[in-house]
Amino acid sequence: MSETMTKPADAATAYPTPTPVTFARGDGIGPEIMDATLRMLDAAGAKLALEEIRIGESVYKSGITSGIEPEAWDSLRRTGVFLKAPITTPQGKGYKSLNVTVRKTMGLYANVRPCPTFHPFVATSHPDMDVVIIRENEEDTYGGIEHRQTAEVTQCLKLISTPGTEKIVRYAFDYARRHGRKRVTCFTKDNIMKITDGLFHRVFTELSREYPDVESDHQIIDIGTARFAKDPTQYDLIVLPNLYGDIISDVAAELAGSVGLAGSANIGDSVAMFEAIHGSAPDIAGKGVANPSGLLHGAILMLDHIGQPEPAALLHNAWLRTIEDGVHTADVKPVDPKSKPVDSAMFTQAVIDRLGQEPRTLAKAVHVAAPHTAAAHRVAKRPAKELRGVDVFLDWDEDDRNPDVLGKRLEAAAPESLTLKMVTNRGVKVYPGGQPETFCTDHWRCRFLSTTDGGAISHTLVLKLLSELDQAGFDFIKTEHLYAFDGERGYSLGQGE
Ligand code: NAD
Repeated sequence: MSETMTKPADAATAYPTPTPVTFARGDGIGPEIMDATLRMLDAAGAKLALEEIRIGESVYKSGITSGIEPEAWDSLRRTGVFLKAPITTPQGKGYKSLNVTVRKTMGLYANVRPCPTFHPFVATSHPDMDVVIIRENEEDTYGGIEHRQTAEVTQCLKLISTPGTEKIVRYAFDYARRHGRKRVTCFTKDNIMKITDGLFHRVFTELSREYPDVESDHQIIDIGTARFAKDPTQYDLIVLPNLYGDIISDVAAELAGSVGLAGSANIGDSVAMFEAIHGSAPDIAGKGVANPSGLLHGAILMLDHIGQPEPAALLHNAWLRTIEDGVHTADVKPVDPKSKPVDSAMFTQAVIDRLGQEPRTLAKAVHVAAPHTAAAHRVAKRPAKELRGVDVFLDWDEDDRNPDVLGKRLEAAAPESLTLKMVTNRGVKVYPGGQPETFCTDHWRCRFLSTTDGGAISHTLVLKLLSELDQAGFDFIKTEHLYAFDGERGYSLGQGE
């Protein structure tokens, strides 16, 4: 044992006041791996005042569609820390994802997923990979704001906000600093989504200047993902919007070979949730063979968060040493084919027996307290906002969907002070001067601007336009106002405009 290592007993005396933590045993293998994890936390000297809540299948089946009991929110608000075992989401309509509910209700805006490898002890195709994925957790298309607007066309709203982006980007740079990460890479698709992803990229670039000690770069998500899949060792920390992050974090865990071993953290300003990334594994529940490592790694992230890095380091290093010693559960594919798996209880005991030991080959884990302090939101000067026009969306299925017929009828219906600038179908300009090859659905975007070039219009004029369109027999399904902010256009142009 290293002279400098903290022993479990020392760690225990380091925290005289236990930290309140809410925990839930969950479903399937959840109770088994939670009990194993709590045993390991206790043995390592973690000082926790535990409050149990009930979540998952039994709660869903009692008629609570969110899968979490109403009283549980009080516990989460009281402790601000949630150690959660996986749950089984019942099949069928009407059940809401518990993870999404907790994430949204508690404002858990940052999903943090370290994806290390354990080569040469656990098989991986990328031995030197060691990346952390930080995913924005609340915005983007995950607001679930979707509509069916016509017989043929549906839409999903993608929302990216300045404060939401500032929070996640700042969290990523602060994380890099605390954990000695050298470079933060941002992935977006702002060559196409110039306004939404463009905002994410711009905030990333602006905030990166406040962290000159951390390298930063931006890559377009498609080529970035291709490079990442080919050689993940080129990446240190990746920060990205919600949908891309959802996909890339799974790719990263798979490449590292750690899907069954990794933990993740969901961080908010007042509550944080820690868990394994795997599910409730009902196929092996009750057999005593489940691997508690994913939940343990979630718990180790929790210890850093609550300012108990000593037991975090003890547990992490003991776990690494256990894996190095060839002790593993059946789900882990060891590099040594002769090694025999052990059951959950033996694996748990093996980690406890190694508390105070360090890995010999794998890099020693170093932990630092990482309490999250709520980011102060920048008070931006509100820009001058001017209404310049309106996009009216129509459900139109007449005259063989001929755009020229539609365009002429709209021009005839428009009030004098508005000009029909263009009509697009799925974003492509079809009037005036469309191409005959363009396929048209029943969903049309009709852009009206002030007759005075670049001039402002009023809401009253928009209402007048809608009234005229209504009288002309058009089915308008929604409008989007076209604003300029401090004189800068706040809407995209149509393809071909
Ligand atoms: P899963 O991760 O539960 O299982 C996939 C495979 O991995 C199974 O063969 C399983 O036996 C194995 N496995 C998973 N964790 C293991 C462990 N700790 N030790 C040993 N083997 C392990 O994924 P699934 O089968 O798609 O989902 C099962 C249930 O879990 C579903 O109801 C799903 O909705 C839920 N789920 C919950 C969460 C969560 O609570 N965070 C996450 C994912 C899935």
